[in-house]
Amino acid sequence: MGESLESPSLRVSEVFYSLQGEASRMGLPSVFVRLTGCPLRCVWCDTGYAFTGGQSMPLATIFDRVSGYGVRQVCVTGGEPLAQKNCLLLLVSLCDAGYDVSLETSGALDIAEVDPRVSRIVDLKAPGSGESERNRWSNIPLLTPRDELKFVLTSRADYEWAKQTITGHRLDQRCPILFSPVQDALDPRDLAEWILADRLPVRFQLQLHKLLWGNIHGK
Ligand code: SF4
Repeated sequence: MGESLESPSLRVSEVFYSLQGEASRMGLPSVFVRLTGCPLRCVWCDTGYAFTGGQSMPLATIFDRVSGYGVRQVCVTGGEPLAQKNCLLLLVSLCDAGYDVSLETSGALDIAEVDPRVSRIVDLKAPGSGESERNRWSNIPLLTPRDELKFVLTSRADYEWAKQTITGHRLDQRCPILFSPVQDALDPRDLAEWILADRLPVRFQLQLHKLLWGNIHGK
C-alpha cells in the first residue's frame, strides 16, 4: 500500500478472523474489520458495544492486520462503517490488493462512493427495527447484481412490509435478497414457511456464527 495511505486513520472496534456468518459468502474463512460508531439505534442491534470506544488505527496498520491472516475474504462492518469517510479509502486499498471485499452497511448512508469492486450488503430496515424512516431509498437504483439487500425481521408485520417493498421496487431484479429472523423475536420456522408459501424470490438465512458458537464473532 502507498505512502499516501499511511496517515489517514479509522476508529476500529476490532479486527478478527472467523467464518463469514451471512449472505452469499457464508461459511468462507474471512477477516472482519469492525469500525466504531453508528448513527442508528436498531432495537435488535447485537453490536451496541461498537457504538463507542474503539481505537484509532492508521489505514496501514489495519491493512497489515488484515494481511496477517492470509485469507482472501475481507468484510468491513460496524457499527456503520460508512459513518467514517476514510472507510472509502480502506475499501479501495483492499480491492487494489486483490482481496474479495464486502461491506455491511445500514442502508441509511449514501453508497454511491463505495468502490464498485466491493460487494455491498445493504440493510433495508423494517418497521420493527425502529429505524425504517432512515432507509435511504436513493441507494436502491445504485445496487447491482454483485450487491445484496438484507431484511432483518421481527414479526409477520415486518415480513409483509418486506414483501410489499420487494414487489413495489422490483428489488429481486436488482440483486440477491436476504431474509433473516431476529433471534428470540421471530421463529425461524415461521419465516421459512411464509417464504415457501409465498414463493418469494429471497434467500432465508440464519447467522452461521451464532449457530456454531453462539456469539456475534464466531470463535
Ligand atoms: S445499523 Fe447496524 S450497527 Fe447500527 S444500530 Fe442498526 S444494527 Fe446496530
